Order: sequence, then structure tokens, then C-alpha cells
Amino acid sequence: MKTYKITLIRGDGIGPEIVAEAVKVLDKAGEKFGFRAEYAEALMGGRAFDETGVPLPQETIDKCLDSDAVLLGAVGGEKWDSLPGHLRPEAGLLGLRAALGLFANLRPAKIYGPLKDACPLRDEIIGDSMDIMVVRELTGGIYFGKRGRETVDGVEAAFDTEYYTAAEVERIARVAFELARRRSGRLCSVDKANVLESSRLWRETVIRVAADYPDVELNHLYIDNAAMQLVRNPKQFDVILASNIFGDILSDEASQVAGSIGMLASASLGEGRLGLYEPVHGSAPDIAGKEIANPLATILSAAMLLRHSLNEEKAADAVEAAVEKVLVDGLRTPDIYTEGCKKIGTAEMGDAVAEAI
Ligand code: NAD
Repeated sequence: MKTYKITLIRGDGIGPEIVAEAVKVLDKAGEKFGFRAEYAEALMGGRAFDETGVPLPQETIDKCLDSDAVLLGAVGGEKWDSLPGHLRPEAGLLGLRAALGLFANLRPAKIYGPLKDACPLRDEIIGDSMDIMVVRELTGGIYFGKRGRETVDGVEAAFDTEYYTAAEVERIARVAFELARRRSGRLCSVDKANVLESSRLWRETVIRVAADYPDVELNHLYIDNAAMQLVRNPKQFDVILASNIFGDILSDEASQVAGSIGMLASASLGEGRLGLYEPVHGSAPDIAGKEIANPLATILSAAMLLRHSLNEEKAADAVEAAVEKVLVDGLRTPDIYTEGCKKIGTAEMGDAVAEAI
């Protein structure tokens, strides 16, 4: 039987509760589709600091590099908020992404029919559903470019630099084209090529890569227009490709259109198949230990893990279909509860999804 090595970083707050449910679902998917998951536990974030003195122990990096995929709950909490920057839980997360060479961030923004009320847009805009995938470059651009402060003629100034090499654009563009090919075959590349030189290189490079994907329909939008179109007519989008800063903004905007934070999954990918999968939300310390956290974002992240790292496409489809089914059946954790539905806890939701596979 095929065996995959999955590193689990349960993390802080609700992290351990939601990862436990995703593991249940992965095991059930394995039973059904003929593979086995072998889990290794690793520490990162606040708990890692408490137990080892650093938010990202080398042992964690080694375990992750030695696995097929990494599933993360969430990290952080008030207890660690006053630590210096390099010891805070977030530093662990950034360090892990860098250590694993993850340059592509995939954020699906999907509206499930039964949860349509969580979408702030009117029915006639959204129709029955919405399913967008934002592909954001994660390791380049203005967040990593040269920056500084200076005083010029007695006036204080600061600068940050948007900087991309053609190779960096090409590798993220290929991720987006491949995804578009597996979805509806439509890709929208976002830039500001009317003003920024870096965006002109971005656009030229994306057009050059497009020659290898004649089956994918490519269009380009300026970031200001893309931000507007996302709320005006989100259904026009399938895969959206954007730089680090533009993707940061657009993926948050798209997730707000989708509505429920407890439903949003994400994947971060590098050159090989190894990826890091985690819900978009944080460690929700306000509800930790109460058995009411919504595990669906983590379960949907596990579905992405099956698809992108393990190439278990059928199992991924089955997990996503199982999530739809429990929603159609009216099962809800408190965060997505509406009248007439059945309110259930974290573990019951995990059981229901596993059962529906
Ligand atoms: P949060 O996403 O943890 O919580 C925001 C609100 O959403 C809270 O009311 C919370 O109860 C609710 N919520 C979040 N996930 C939920 C779920 N699965 N089910 C039901 N309700 C849910 O954001 P925050 O409160 O700003 O941050 C809390 C901690 O998480 C902070 O320490 C922050 O730094 C950290 N954080 C971590 C990550 C990460 O690990 N990737 C991301 C964001 C924030």
C-alpha cells in the first residue's frame, strides 16, 4: 500500500483541536482510496517556544523536509505577544516557509451554496456559487526588496523596492497556468503595468510563459481594476495570479467575499511536491478548548494536501464533496450556524465529514 509521510504541526489555541479532525478525515480517505498516512509530530510557534526556547526548532525543519507534506493548525496567542520579534510564533511560520522554499501561496475563495448568506454581496451578483483561486507569489517583491530610511535636506524619508527577476515571475506563473489547466482553463494575471516597470516585466514574462499553455485563456487586469471587479463581478474569475503585495490584498478581499473565516483553506508550494497546508484563520484563543472551533478550513486544507502534494486527486475530490454534503445536511459549528440547522461541535463535524467520504 502507498504510504505517505505527513508532518503535523498542531500549534497553539484551537490548532490541536482542528488538526485532530483533519487527521480523522485523511485516515478515512486513505482507507477508501488505498493509501496510508504516517504522521510525524513537530513543534512550531508558541508551544515550540515554551518547550525549546525558539519558535522554530531545527528538528521541525528537518522533519518537514523529510516528509511528503506538512499540515499546520495555527500558531500564536497573547501569552507570546510580548516576546521580541524573532522569538514570536509568526517568526516560526515565516522561517518555516523560507526553509521549505515555498514561493507559491494558493488561497481558494469558495462560496458553498448552503452558506451563501455569509457572502456580503447581493444574490444577483453571486448567483449560486463562487469558486476563485488566488495564486500569490510568496518570497519576492516589495516585502523582500531593498528598504531603508534616509534624511534628505533635513526631510525624513523611507523607501521599499518592488523587485522581481524574470525567473521568479516565470516559476509562479507556471504554478498558476498548471492550476488553471486543471480547473476551468481561465487565468487572470494582475499587475500595474501602466505605471510600474516591475509590472511590465511581470506581464511580458507571463505572456511568454502562456505560449506553453495554449489551452489556457489568459487575460490581464491592473490591480485597481481587479480589486473593483472582485466585488462587482467575482464570477468572471477562476485563477488569479498576482505578486506578493497584490496577492496579499486580493486574497484577503476574495476571502471576505466568500464570507466565513472558518471555511478558508490555503496551501504554500515550492519547486517539488512538498507543501505546507493550513487554514487561513489564526489560533482563535477566545474559543480554544471549548470544542466549538470549525475544523472545515483545516479539513479543506487537507484536501489541498491530497491534491497538490500526494497527487491523490480522487481522494481530494471526495473530501471536498463530503464537506459539501455535511453542509447540505444542515450540520453547522456555531460560527456558521443559522436557524433551522443543527449545531454541532468540532469533533462531531470531523466525524460527519469522515463518515460522508
Ligand atoms: P483568528 O483568526 O484567530 O480569530 C478571529 C476570530 O475568528 C475570532 O473571534 C475567532 O474565534 C474566530 N475564528 C477563527 N477561526 C475559527 C474557527 N476555525 N472556528 C470558529 N471561529 C473561528 O485571528 P486573531 O484573533 O486576530 O488572532 C489570534 C492569534 O492567531 C494571534 O496570536 C495571531 O497572531 C494568530 N494568527 C495566526 C495565524 C497563523 O497561524 N497562520 C494567522 C492569523 C493569526
